[in-house]
Amino acid sequence: MTIATTNPFTGETVKTFSADTDALLEEKLHKAEQAFHGWRRKSFAERAKRMSAAAALLEERKDALGRLMTLEMGKLRKAGVAEIEKCANGCRYYAENAERHLAPEAVQTDAKRSGKRFQPLGPVLAVMPWNFPFWQVFRFAAPALMAGNVGLLKHASNVPQCALAIEEIFRDAGFPAGVFQTLLIGSEKVKRIIDDPRIAAATLTGSDGAGRSLGSAAGAQLKKMVLELGGSDPFLVLPSCDLDKAVQVAIAARVQNAGQSCIAAKRFIVHQQIAGEFEQRFVAGMAALRVGDPQDDATEVGPLAGRQVLDDIEKQVRRATQEGAKVACGGQRLQRPGFFYAPTVLLDALGTAAWKEEVFGPVAAVVRARDLDHAIALANDTKFGLGAAAFTQDPAEQERLCDELEAGQVFINGMVRSDPRLPFGGIKQSGYGRELSQEGIREFTNVKTFWIA
Ligand code: NAP
Repeated sequence: MTIATTNPFTGETVKTFSADTDALLEEKLHKAEQAFHGWRRKSFAERAKRMSAAAALLEERKDALGRLMTLEMGKLRKAGVAEIEKCANGCRYYAENAERHLAPEAVQTDAKRSGKRFQPLGPVLAVMPWNFPFWQVFRFAAPALMAGNVGLLKHASNVPQCALAIEEIFRDAGFPAGVFQTLLIGSEKVKRIIDDPRIAAATLTGSDGAGRSLGSAAGAQLKKMVLELGGSDPFLVLPSCDLDKAVQVAIAARVQNAGQSCIAAKRFIVHQQIAGEFEQRFVAGMAALRVGDPQDDATEVGPLAGRQVLDDIEKQVRRATQEGAKVACGGQRLQRPGFFYAPTVLLDALGTAAWKEEVFGPVAAVVRARDLDHAIALANDTKFGLGAAAFTQDPAEQERLCDELEAGQVFINGMVRSDPRLPFGGIKQSGYGRELSQEGIREFTNVKTFWIA
C-alpha cells in the first residue's frame, strides 16, 4: 500500500511519502535499543514530567492535529479535537498513576523478603489503524513508555502525517531520542521488524485478518503480543428501557466516526414487545442524519476513510440484501465526490453478511428477539467479543447481561467506550491482552518474582 494522504472528502491524493529505507530502519532499531538502556533507569517522576509535557502539547495543538485527522481519514473536526483531548487525558492518567500501578508488591513466604516487581520489556513495536489515529497510539504509548519501554510505531499507510505529528509531540515534550519513533513502512515489512531480536514485544490494533498474520509472526518468535481486533458489538433493547434514550444512543453508537469504530454498535437486538416502535424511530433518526463536509460542525456523518472501505461496505450490504435483509433506509453510496455511504438500516438481518462480519461503516443490522434468553443467545452468536451494550431498567436483567454477554466490556444504559481507568480489550476473535488501567500498563512488563532468604 502506498504511504500517502488522500482526502476522503474529495477523494484526491494530496501528498505521498517515501518509505524508510532498510538503512534508516536499521538506524531506528539501533537507536531504540540504545535508548532503552537509559530510559528504563529513569525514575517515574522523570518519565511523568515528559508525559505531562506531551499532554500539554496535545492540548496546545489540538486544533491543528484535529484538522490533520479530518484531512487524512475524514474525521469530523469536532470529534478530532475531542480525540486529542482524550489523548492528553490518557497521558496525564499514566503520568499520575504509573508508579502506583507498578509499585513492587511484597508477598509473605518462607523467604526473608519476597514478592513481585514490574519491569519494562524493551523496544515494543506498535502496529496501528487509521480510525482513531491519535487515541490508538497514545493508548499504547502512554502506559508503555511510563513503564520504561521504548516504542516504535508502524501506523496505517493512509495517516503518515498523523504518525509524524505524534513522533514530534514526544520529541518536543523532551523524551530522549529513540524513546518513541515512527517507522514509515508498508505492512509487508512488519514481520521482519517483529523477527528482529532487538524487538521485545509487539501490539496490533487492527482487523482480525492482520491479527492472525501478526499473531503468527510473534508466536513464531515466542514474543509477547497484545491484539486489539475488530468487533461486531451487540446492542440490546429490552422492554423496561427508556426508549427515547435507547434510540438516541443507538444512532450515536452506530454512526460514531462514520461507523468506523471497533466498539461501534453493529447488531441491534430488540425485544419483540417494543421492536415496532424502536425500528420506526431508529430508522427515522438514521435517515435524518446530516451527511457531508467533516469540517462543517453541523455535519453528523462524514466520509468513510478510503475507497477500499467504501467498496467493502457496498459489497457487504449487497450480499446482506441478497441473503434476505431488508433495506429500511440508505443502502447505497452517495453520488458525490469523496467516499460517502448513506446511513443504512437493515431489518431482518439475522445470518446475513451484515450479521456475521464486522461492518465498518454507518450500517446497522436489526434483529428481533422473543425474550431475554433469545436476546442473549443472539448477542453471543458472533465470532467477535469486544464490547456489548444493553438498555434495560430491570436490575435482575442488568446483572444477567453483565454476567452472560461474551465481551471484554459490557455497558448497561450507555454506549461502549474506553476510559483510562478501566481495562479495555476483547475475547474470542476480538483479540487478547488488555489496554488501559492497571492491566494495560502491566501487559508490557516482566512480572518478576524476587525471593531473598
Ligand atoms: P487493518 O487493515 O488490519 O490495519 C491495521 C494496521 O495493520 C495498519 O497499520 C496496517 O498497515 C497493518 N496491517 C494490515 N495487515 C497487515 C499484515 N498482514 N501484516 C502486517 N501489518 C498489517 O485495519 P484497519 O482497516 O486499519 O482498521 C480497522 C480495523 O481495526 C477494524 O477491524 C477495527 O475493528 C479494528 N480496531 C480495533 C480496535 C480495538 O481496540 N479492538 C480499535 C480500533 C480499530 P497498512 O495500513 O500499511 O496496510
